Amino acid sequence: MRIPLVTEIQRFSLQDGPGIRTTIFLKGCPLHCPWCHNPETQDARQEFYYYPARCVGCGRCVAVCPAGTSRLVHHSDGRTRIELDRTNCQRCMRCVAACLTEARSIVGQRMSVEDILREALSDSAFYRNSGGGVTISGGEPLYFPEFTRQLAGELHAAGVHVAIETSCFPKNRETVESLLDVVDLFIVDLKSLDPRKHFEVIGWPLAPILANLEMLFAAGANVRIHIPLIPGFNDSPADFDAYVDYLGSRAESITGVDLLSFHSYGEGKYAFLGRSDSYQYSGVEEPPAEKTMPLARALKNKGLAVTVGGIVGIIDSKSELTDGDILEVHQ
Ligand code: SF4
Ligand code: SF4
Repeated sequence: MRIPLVTEIQRFSLQDGPGIRTTIFLKGCPLHCPWCHNPETQDARQEFYYYPARCVGCGRCVAVCPAGTSRLVHHSDGRTRIELDRTNCQRCMRCVAACLTEARSIVGQRMSVEDILREALSDSAFYRNSGGGVTISGGEPLYFPEFTRQLAGELHAAGVHVAIETSCFPKNRETVESLLDVVDLFIVDLKSLDPRKHFEVIGWPLAPILANLEMLFAAGANVRIHIPLIPGFNDSPADFDAYVDYLGSRAESITGVDLLSFHSYGEGKYAFLGRSDSYQYSGVEEPPAEKTMPLARALKNKGLAVTVGGIVGIIDSKSELTDGDILEVHQ
């Protein structure tokens, strides 16, 4: 069984399904969404953040690195800083252990199913009282199907509501099918309904994703759809029409649709991971509510429950919503 690293266990989360939840972020994803705001969950391997502001230029990391990735540079302002080239990094993490100021920190901890269960089940009382549970997220949980199945199964057996956040990418249907009896809620990220764009921009075909979705619908699974609204990628009238046609024709099988506007909060993490060059959305602004509302309204008119930005009923004087457009809560 392939065991993923865990980047974070987020307790008391209110965003990732109903009630109070614990969200488990697994590290590793086969898709390459260029807007990803959790870049630390893309690469399945361990890596480290480097925070220049915390670096005192002591050189301890330079001394222990077997790959010669770091060198001390004396600057005209009198400070000494590290210049870091990760090209030959062996991911040994000796530099992190050597750093006394926490200018370097490991991304991705090794945890067994038992470790995660111990932590997740400690909040069982909150789940019971709030109608919450545990959400397995990423990265992409289905990149580690046996692990995810085992974790979901143990949680389910303990009486915990289990949600999974996934792009439903697997090409073999059995991977998703195997979760039907242990997952209570599938939150499926549907990034585009244009096969060409999906493949060219994200690097993965759309067809298996739709086939898995259809399987979930046919099985009567509890499915929510997440649509990340990305400027210039999936926010044209043609994109909106495609979402409305597809999701509208399956409204009875879908618990709700969450429209999640692009934001660039993850940009700093690209820098701390040494991957600033790969971030293409620097300076791109979050779309205004007016841009999202036509899609929200059209989906609602098809009988779908819709949230915008994970917030209930975004209604302000600037939006064109009327009383009849009140949006619904995550269920
Ligand atoms: S993790 Fe990379 S940069 Fe750090 S000591 Fe090891 S090889 Fe050097
Ligand atoms: S060990 Fe830490 S504080 Fe010292 S030079 Fe390296 S990163 Fe900076």
